[in-house]
Amino acid sequence: MRESLVAIMGEKMTSSENQRYSRQIRYREIGEAGQNRILQGRVAVVGCGGLGSAQAEALARAGVGFIRVIDRDCIELSNLQRQLLFDEHDAEAASPKAIAAAERMRAINSEIKVEPVIADLTPSNADELLADVHLILDGTDNFETRYLVNDFAISRGLPWIYGAAVGSYGLKMPVLPGRTCCLRCVFPKPPTGVQPNSETVGILGPVTMTVGALQAADALKILAGHMDSVAAQITIIDVWTGEILQTPQPAPRVNCPACGRHEFEYLGGKTGPPISLCGRNAVQIHDRTRHVDLQQLATQLEAVGTVQATDFALRVPIAPYELTVFPDGRAIIKGTTDVGIARSLYAKYIGN
Ligand SMILES: [Zn+2]
Repeated sequence: MRESLVAIMGEKMTSSENQRYSRQIRYREIGEAGQNRILQGRVAVVGCGGLGSAQAEALARAGVGFIRVIDRDCIELSNLQRQLLFDEHDAEAASPKAIAAAERMRAINSEIKVEPVIADLTPSNADELLADVHLILDGTDNFETRYLVNDFAISRGLPWIYGAAVGSYGLKMPVLPGRTCCLRCVFPKPPTGVQPNSETVGILGPVTMTVGALQAADALKILAGHMDSVAAQITIIDVWTGEILQTPQPAPRVNCPACGRHEFEYLGGKTGPPISLCGRNAVQIHDRTRHVDLQQLATQLEAVGTVQATDFALRVPIAPYELTVFPDGRAIIKGTTDVGIARSLYAKYIGN
């Protein structure tokens, strides 16, 4: 009854929309009412790599009315193996991912609005980029941004879907404020030390596509008005071994800093390593709380470039930049004064 009321109240679908989304409308749980809601849905995709590409493409095809794609990086040849929205032309041109993604999404579906944003999501722009959407999809590759998204979403009561992938392994968890636990209930603190990532241990396309698809499916349920169909589960998959594990999300922790105590440290910008310009053409990241095993990092970075490592520092060229890392987690990125690039390189090769 309520569903049909929404359909009546919602804008009438055009005949082209009716045809385009006919298979989705025919799906009983969505129907015309759900499709009308999806057409009016607003989503932010934070990070447009492997996960973000899969989410953004699925949502553009499904007719989500407004999709904001936020990404700080440019496309490289090594992205094409898994990042669905990009092609060789984009890699040759080193186009910003947000721009190339938006172009491709508009070509797929010219009836929706896509807004590309070339930026790093930070405490200072989170309100501008996330306040006007119905839900947030995590396409990031780092914990710092995820904790920021978690803080923002909890503070505004917005649902968001956490996703992660590395190697052949991935996981997905919905965060529905007031209904499920949040990211900091499960991971109170960011992982320390050097984290495995796609640069160091590789990543398979099917795992990002699968996790991204699962995140997009949760998004469609929420947008179509079926948040109750989103299971409070952590889904863990390994596309190599074929294992799929579903485990119930723990109950929200009373003393969770985010959803329990409403202390939004990441949104307040109190955490995260400070960054400064260093010399004429270098950026320094002063993360002195991270112990880095330089010998271990040297082994992980062998494939990236010729690594020079002592007990005191590790240096590796990552053309056109040069990365120097110290055992306390401090790093200097030469060859740029762009803080976003420096942060991105740090996230890729050392961790977050
Ligand atoms: Zn929590």
